[in-house]
Amino acid sequence: MMKFYSVFTYQNELLYINMVLISACLIGLNCRFDGQSKTNTTLVSTLKNTHFIPFCPEQLGGLPTPRSRAWITNGDGNDVLAGKSKVINEAGTDVTPQFIKGTIETEKLLTLFNIKKAYLKSKSPSCGIGKIYHEQNLVDGNGVCSSMLIKKNIELINV
Ligand code: SF4
Repeated sequence: MMKFYSVFTYQNELLYINMVLISACLIGLNCRFDGQSKTNTTLVSTLKNTHFIPFCPEQLGGLPTPRSRAWITNGDGNDVLAGKSKVINEAGTDVTPQFIKGTIETEKLLTLFNIKKAYLKSKSPSCGIGKIYHEQNLVDGNGVCSSMLIKKNIELINV
């Protein structure tokens, strides 16, 4: 049986051990922009008997599901976090504030659960590592949330 978290107490403080983050769409949660998931059965099998937290930075940022597909307009997530680029969706709406909010909320999880490792969905404007989309074009770069995770020296696995 999978464990989503494990809580231990020490001197009246809660301790969370060996927790890893995982993009929620990878384990079957229908949180993608199209209301679907991208379940990775091999990863789900690997995670059995481990302690992990499914997260979706776009939902944490307040975006609905389903939602319009979105992309970083230029550069990558680092540029968005530095205020040098934006995230827009197919409707032309600037969703940069929601992407940044989702990143800030995810950062809280790092502290709360002493996160050192994360499995992230590839090519996403939030979770992508190494490759992201500029509209229809796949380019080099990292997503908004993954850029923060890289800065925090979290071990990242691209799935
Ligand atoms: S890739 Fe990340 S932001 Fe996109 S649906 Fe999956 S968990 Fe959410």
